[in-house]
Amino acid sequence: MPAAVCLGPDLWRVPTTPWDLVNSFLVRAADGSFTLVDTGLRSAPARVLAALSELGAGTHDVTTIVLTHAHADHAGGAAELARTTGRGITVHDGDAGYVRTGQAPPRDESMRLGRLLRRMGGDFEAAPVARTMVDGELLEESGLQVHHTPGHTPGHCSLLHEATGILITGDAIWNMRSRRTWPVLAFCTSAAQTELTAATLADLDYRTAAFTHGPEIRGTGREAVRDFLAHPQRFSPGL
Ligand SMILES: [Zn+2]
Repeated sequence: MPAAVCLGPDLWRVPTTPWDLVNSFLVRAADGSFTLVDTGLRSAPARVLAALSELGAGTHDVTTIVLTHAHADHAGGAAELARTTGRGITVHDGDAGYVRTGQAPPRDESMRLGRLLRRMGGDFEAAPVARTMVDGELLEESGLQVHHTPGHTPGHCSLLHEATGILITGDAIWNMRSRRTWPVLAFCTSAAQTELTAATLADLDYRTAAFTHGPEIRGTGREAVRDFLAHPQRFSPGL
């Protein structure tokens, strides 16, 4: 698999597992510094380092680490990458406590699977939080605009890169096996709120939809998101 997939000027997707199952992203600023979005599973840091090296950079060039949310497949490499870059984590206040403790956010107990999964853990290594971000904020180093889309977790955020017309959905919507789906709803803190807040992604201005789970959709990303929201589907591993 490629170490870094170029999505637009100075923005790359970094697949950290085979088959684009889990993605991180890198955004390069004019001064050559990098913002890393999501840190993947515990095994992901090596893939992030390979991507940086392919781009002629190293860990010392990463000045900001943003998490879309505090799940183990997004925050699993956070502690190690915080250590190697010397940078704390930027995350929405709603998830900051989970990053600091390494504890997974609660799962939707209205769903039977959610109640069962509660006992399964999903914790990750605690990482230091450098700063919290709020809805509507522009992260100046990267030009990413924060869109709070809670439900999947209390502090879940999607990130819009206006300059290149790229939306990083986070886990608001997945694109697995060439189909847009909800994330596994039993993994959400509130499945109902996940569906409600994802609808706000229809009105943002972007051409490429970039997913943390699955490959991006270029050119017609917003149409694909709108189409999904009009005809939503649940994730089914057998599809
Ligand atoms: Zn998640």
